[in-house]
Amino acid sequence: MRQPDASHTVSRRCFLNLTLAASAAAACGTIFTEKLLARTHDKPYPTDAVVIDANENPLGPSQAARDAIAAIIASGGRYSPWLTDELIKTFAWMEGLPADHVTVYPGSSEPLHYAVLAFASPSRSFVSADPGYEAGPHAAKSAGARIVNVPLSKHYAHDVRAMLSAAPDAGVFYVCTPNNPTGTLTSHSDIEYLVERKPQGSIVLVDEAYIHFADGATSTIDLVKAGKDVVVLRTFSKIYGMAGLRCGFAIGRPDLVAKLHSFQGWNAMPITAIVAATASLKDTNLVPERKRINTTTREAVFEWLRSNGYAFIPSQSNCFLLDTKRDGKQALAAMEKQNVYVGRIWPVMPTYVRVTIGTPAEMNRFQAAFSNVMKGVVISSVSRQRPMPAQYFDGLRRPSYS
Ligand code: PMP
Repeated sequence: MRQPDASHTVSRRCFLNLTLAASAAAACGTIFTEKLLARTHDKPYPTDAVVIDANENPLGPSQAARDAIAAIIASGGRYSPWLTDELIKTFAWMEGLPADHVTVYPGSSEPLHYAVLAFASPSRSFVSADPGYEAGPHAAKSAGARIVNVPLSKHYAHDVRAMLSAAPDAGVFYVCTPNNPTGTLTSHSDIEYLVERKPQGSIVLVDEAYIHFADGATSTIDLVKAGKDVVVLRTFSKIYGMAGLRCGFAIGRPDLVAKLHSFQGWNAMPITAIVAATASLKDTNLVPERKRINTTTREAVFEWLRSNGYAFIPSQSNCFLLDTKRDGKQALAAMEKQNVYVGRIWPVMPTYVRVTIGTPAEMNRFQAAFSNVMKGVVISSVSRQRPMPAQYFDGLRRPSYS
């Protein structure tokens, strides 16, 4: 009988890899993003709607990012992996990290999901705060892991001591700072406390999606540099205004981030997102300027809420929780009738709704609408549907393959 030659061996290995990738994909489950979690993700908004329900940035990509996209469009027919390399090297240099500690994804939803799949399992639980960002628990469900929700402390920080004692079997401790939805911070020293005492083989997954908006927030990238079992997530969807362009990072020791990568079959990033992200990082005014704009608008809203006696949780982020003093669902519906889309609600705080900071003009409309809700002014419904224009398919042909 003929012995299998090298090419057979290679094909068999490839087949095995493909099979493993296919079963990983099958076990992967749905990756949840903000818009999928937002109540309104699948419906069109009327054109004049105020959309402050998904923590998007109303400013969109910076001018530098737009220019970079325009300049790269003609190369859109090519795969250009060296552009990803440049983005990684730029970020790594800025943070003083070795480049092999940084991996790029189309947003941070993917690495969040993969980190949970890689480190949580039926025997290793997933621990997070309540209220907290729900994508992690959804991933934990896909992993078959026990989900341990620990209430936030009275200052709305992650209660790291309670998290530790609630789950000695933890595989993942998820810490989002500033937290989504409260916009509140967990101190670096508390995260360090958690890192030093967590069970062996677990990771602390620190989600820094909103860190640029906050005063006095210290990144935990230093713990990555110190070789700890920490994976930090960053996204370009928030301060950089690139939610629709899709770019984010997982930052961690190479052996840890490699485990996330094994869930991802294909890693070609859209070149538009890559060049926009690189240009955004190089634009040194972007973060301070946008932070100032967000803070000014947010604090003006807080001032208005305070002066009207309305209750809210003071936030350091681009969103906050607002107490509607009724079933939050009723308040959402009443706001929607006025063409203002806020939301969503966390079951543990059912009278609160999350509000994203929009432009000053959008927040004025939010204030008028919320005032009507609180005063019991009844507004008749506006139509949500944006009809598809009759001529939408004009000139389109169905392809014929015969
Ligand atoms: N983490 C948190 C806390 C978020 O709120 C979001 C989105 N809102 C993400 C991660 C993921 O965002 P994206 O996939 O757009 O990068």
